[in-house]
Amino acid sequence: MNPARSEPQPATPSQNVHDARWIARAIELAREAATNGGGPFGAVIARGDEQLAESSNRVTLDLDPTAHAEVNAIRAACAKVRDFKLEGATLYSSCEPCPMCLGAIHWARLERLVFACSRTDAAAAGFDDEWIYRELALPIEKRAVPTLQLAREAGLGAFDAWRAFAGRSPY
Ligand SMILES: [Zn+2]
Repeated sequence: MNPARSEPQPATPSQNVHDARWIARAIELAREAATNGGGPFGAVIARGDEQLAESSNRVTLDLDPTAHAEVNAIRAACAKVRDFKLEGATLYSSCEPCPMCLGAIHWARLERLVFACSRTDAAAAGFDDEWIYRELALPIEKRAVPTLQLAREAGLGAFDAWRAFAGRSPY
């Protein structure tokens, strides 16, 4: 976790003049995907009036469980700007992001998040990620996926190599 991100963030960003347009596009993408073989989710990434990327959910089309609209849009936007950071950009999602996408939003350093439907709405449509949010709060030994920590001493070697590598790109 980036230490800068552990500090308290403003609770609710104010709406700006571009928000209505981009959230409408995210919802439009979700509606299109709903009947095109993907999941009913869409996302747009924009800086002000400039769209960096848009995508819909492609999990079943690509046979990729990580191909959520938000992750797809983050990958496309980063490729477009040729950076792994999307500072100053807003992600618009047709639905409240799942824990995976929320993590990706943090890693991408997005400035704002705007979403339409809530996770409760998603659960009512059969897309329940509430249980993953609950998992995150549990200690490892109580999580649904049996998890074993093994070979920590050997694993630390990768961090040693990283710290010793002068050409590293910190992120
Ligand atoms: Zn997601």
